[in-house]
Amino acid sequence: MTTTRDLIQQLAGLARRKHYTCEDSWYSCPQSECGSANDNAGAECDCGADEHNAKVDAICAYLAQPEPEGPTDEEIMDLMPQLMHEDLASAARAMAAQAGTDNRNVAGMMRIILNHHAVDLARAVLARCGRPAVEPPINPAHNTAQDSGQL
Ligand SMILES: [Zn+2]
Repeated sequence: MTTTRDLIQQLAGLARRKHYTCEDSWYSCPQSECGSANDNAGAECDCGADEHNAKVDAICAYLAQPEPEGPTDEEIMDLMPQLMHEDLASAARAMAAQAGTDNRNVAGMMRIILNHHAVDLARAVLARCGRPAVEPPINPAHNTAQDSGQL
């Protein structure tokens, strides 16, 4: 299974630049495989590849961060508007009365069930919001017309 982390690494591989190499090695970056023939060029990268690749690495590190943890049930309930709290309490009392009892424990249990439904709904909405609109390809490096059955 291709994970987001795998895709980030593939993207990083595509984004990283090699150090500049010229047929006349006088102009090659000192950090290139062949080095520079210019003794005054020093040993540091002078083609911009190190700076570019550092930005690629920083972006990949940012993208690879773990997803933030979702809210707790208590945090979801704290976000519930006061009017909804009151309406759920009224609904629970009405459900208990409909069941033929004015027992406060029955109304309390109805209220707990309604609260669980509200929390479940909030979790379903949060889960849907975290899902990407476009599913990543299974393996972009080998995603050819043959793989997709277009041949
Ligand atoms: Zn360089």
